[in-house]
Amino acid sequence: MLPSRASVVVVGGGPAGFMAAIAAAEAAAGHLSGGVLLLESTPEPLHKVLISGGGRCNVTHACWDPRLLVDHYPRGGKALRGPFSRFAPGDTVAWFQAHGLQLVEEPDGRLFPRSNRSSSVIDTLRRAATAAGVAVHTAEAGQAAEALPGGGFRLRLRSGAELLADRLVLATGSHPSGHRIAASLGHGLVAPVPSLFTLTLADHPLLALAGVAMDPVQLELLLTPLADTATAPPAATKPQRQRGPVLITHWGLSGPATLRLTAFAARALRERRYRAELRVDWTGGRKPAELEGWFAAARREQARRQLGNWRPWPDLSRRLWLHLLALVGVDASLRWADLPRRQEQALVTALRDSRYRVSGRGPFGEEFVTAGGIPLAEVNLATMESRLRPGLFLVGELLDVDGVTGGFNFQHCWSSGWLAGQALAAQRTCS
Ligand SMILES: Cc1cc2nc3c(=O)[nH]c(=O)nc-3n(C[C@H](O)[C@H](O)[C@H](O)COP(=O)(O)OP(=O)(O)OC[C@H]3O[C@@H](n4cnc5c(N)ncnc54)[C@H](O)[C@@H]3O)c2cc1C
Repeated sequence: MLPSRASVVVVGGGPAGFMAAIAAAEAAAGHLSGGVLLLESTPEPLHKVLISGGGRCNVTHACWDPRLLVDHYPRGGKALRGPFSRFAPGDTVAWFQAHGLQLVEEPDGRLFPRSNRSSSVIDTLRRAATAAGVAVHTAEAGQAAEALPGGGFRLRLRSGAELLADRLVLATGSHPSGHRIAASLGHGLVAPVPSLFTLTLADHPLLALAGVAMDPVQLELLLTPLADTATAPPAATKPQRQRGPVLITHWGLSGPATLRLTAFAARALRERRYRAELRVDWTGGRKPAELEGWFAAARREQARRQLGNWRPWPDLSRRLWLHLLALVGVDASLRWADLPRRQEQALVTALRDSRYRVSGRGPFGEEFVTAGGIPLAEVNLATMESRLRPGLFLVGELLDVDGVTGGFNFQHCWSSGWLAGQALAAQRTCS
């Protein structure tokens, strides 16, 4: 049975909402007399946690210094230094450990539950919520909220029921219902656009290489103005160049470097309807002199070998090398000693500066988040309380914050949820 009032009502049962509710209930240690209530619109809360990280849940990232951590957030950036100084990935590891879940670091810095199953994270959060006395109500959606003259809120649910809340936490992720409730309480909205997606390349023979992975590759988006508009190119948040692993897919490019590139250029790409020129340096940014050295060594030491049977460096994918030979018109059966200088130059250019036409947004990567949301300037980032409406707290992806792939999006949920929980407990209202 849904009570008619609560000290704290959290709308949204995702990671940010759960963290806020648990942290508030734990920190208040029973002193929130009206209790902490969490509403989730679907029958099962924490759905995104379940499907996250390919079913393993990449809980956070081993980036312990908040000054470095903020570089992984295309939206949020430096403003997040304060929140991350109070609850950083190290605190996340300790928090889950204290609640019975051990996180294990992978060589690339991503942290997963030891079980390698996202269900362990869900079990931990649900157990912690029960132990702290959080009342979780599923299949209950918040629809509208009204601030009451004497303080507190009246929340109307989709079912028609009404609920009074001394404090209201919005943790609805990117769902428009949360944006609507926040707007009705005076908040603005930075237009939501997709972030962290793969790139579709216009029909190109490279696509025949689907499945080839290269690391490192340097990608650079060349965002020239659209031919059909007279407007100046919109500014992107960071230089649009990334270096790292890239995967060739049957529609274009994926892999961490591609996802990072599209995250930082999410808005600029949207404004250009996902059309751009992409410069790919398959050598990962190596100097021309280094490449020339490799070619010279191959000519000298592998003189009688055919080009198709000897790559200039061992980590260069054989399929990609054969593709580039064909692309610049070099016969793969030619011996290294017989490679004309002009063709060597063409190969070096193809390796360092191949150009592709981006024709659209590919299917999402393994993570998908929304850029945009409630502007950070409208929130006190020490408490996550609204600067416009006292008693209203905003956490998680609902805010204009998003991170790149690697556990950074959940980290923002844990940090913002925990901060809101501490502030809610400190305010200790009596219903
Ligand atoms: C496939 C996939 C994989 C991902 N993997 C990772 C990963 O491994 N690591 C990582 O860091 N990030 C990952 N992410 C991103 C991460 O899942 C999100 O950033 C994160 O879930 C946002 O948390 P949140 O609590 O703010 O919102 P959400 O997780 O979206 O939760 C909001 C909740 O509120 C509910 N809700 C919405 N409106 C209402 C309403 N009006 N009333 C009541 N309830 C409402 C929703 O049903 C939902 O349960 C992944 C995302 C996707 C899609």
